[in-house]
Amino acid sequence: MKKISLLGATGSVGLQTLDVIREHPDQFSAVALAFGENIDIALPLIQEFHPKLVAVKNKTVAEQIRPALTKEIRLVYGVEGMIEAAVIPESDILVNAVLGSIGLEPTLAAIEAGKTIGLANKETLVTAGHLVMKKAKEFGVSILPVDSEHSAIFQSMQGQDRSAISRLILTASGGSFRDKKREELEGVTINDALNHPNWSMGAKITVDTATMMNKGLEVIEAHWLFGMPYEKIDIVIHRESIVHSLVEYADHSVIAQLGLPSMLVPIQYALTYPSRLELKLTKQLNLWEIGTLHFQKVDTQRYPSVSLAYHAGKAGGSMPTVLNAANEIAVQAFLSGKIAFLDIERFVETALEHHQVVQMPDLETIEAVDRETRAFVMNKIN
Ligand code: NDP
Ligand code: MG
Repeated sequence: MKKISLLGATGSVGLQTLDVIREHPDQFSAVALAFGENIDIALPLIQEFHPKLVAVKNKTVAEQIRPALTKEIRLVYGVEGMIEAAVIPESDILVNAVLGSIGLEPTLAAIEAGKTIGLANKETLVTAGHLVMKKAKEFGVSILPVDSEHSAIFQSMQGQDRSAISRLILTASGGSFRDKKREELEGVTINDALNHPNWSMGAKITVDTATMMNKGLEVIEAHWLFGMPYEKIDIVIHRESIVHSLVEYADHSVIAQLGLPSMLVPIQYALTYPSRLELKLTKQLNLWEIGTLHFQKVDTQRYPSVSLAYHAGKAGGSMPTVLNAANEIAVQAFLSGKIAFLDIERFVETALEHHQVVQMPDLETIEAVDRETRAFVMNKIN
């Protein structure tokens, strides 16, 4: 029985993690659930999964939910609360599916506590990949990817000679606006952006796929997870989302992982690795039903976020922290109707231009750069 602490339990990845746990009650249990403020979604889950600890966003939410919880459940809040959930002694694995760089400290704390990490929260690796990977090595902890592309790469590396990897190829769906020209993006609405052709995901990542910043963040995520230089990480647009990513080896052999688009597979693989389990919730891939698969080179004029991310990744140090923080704030502003879709990448670019890179930043520096960038972008927006 694997005991799981889950951050972001009420979100898209969080709920699907609970679906996997629900399918295998003899294999998995949820010992801690952390969420933000969505009490209506959380309460039935708490009643169903009986966690020992519940962590919420802040004191107000804690006070609202307290009367509905039994006395045996420990209730905590804030980042401190999430950290407590991440290091709860009863857990074996932390599934970090919280949104944004707020997930960094809980990840670091869980590594120090020796927990295996199932990482969906890509912002953690973008913001502070060098700190996370160094700590994981120091404490002998595995960081198992939940992001579907990285899970595909990880699966395509099993049993292979990793020193012979010549290239990682991330697939990208192209997002909600893939059939639009850049000029057609001027007046797009929030609802248009949230209408993803292949995947149902949280709002922030759906917008990130439309700008393709998501793929940019994933390039940085892959750089840290697999220790690959940026020159050896490529992106290919693949509109069907059947090939989830590929690994090329020195002999030009390419190994890929395929499947119908579903986050349940990478979530479950992170929970069962190195074994596999049946997954009734997903459907079989019949290639004859799909017929044709398409692949296309990324046009960085069309998707400037991809270039911004490579630029930030290669500049290194604190630059990816700026990329991520500026993007988080700009996407929030777009989702609340304050800025236009095309402004997102403009604000990110401005923040990157404004920043003086600090090499090998420690946690304090990263947190300071994160705060300053958020304030800088918010100020520009207002
Ligand atoms: P959602 O927006 O659906 O969910 C976010 C979760 O985080 C919710 O449970 C939310 O709680 C919680 N949360 C947000 N802010 C706080 C806070 N301050 N304190 C505590 N909890 C908080 O996001 P997704 O599930 O889409 O994405 C989560 C992560 O996984 C992201 O990093 C994303 O990039 C990554 N990912 C997602 C994929 C997907 O298919 N959705 C695919 C690959 C990666 P509440 O709603 O209760 O406030
Ligand atoms: Mg992904």
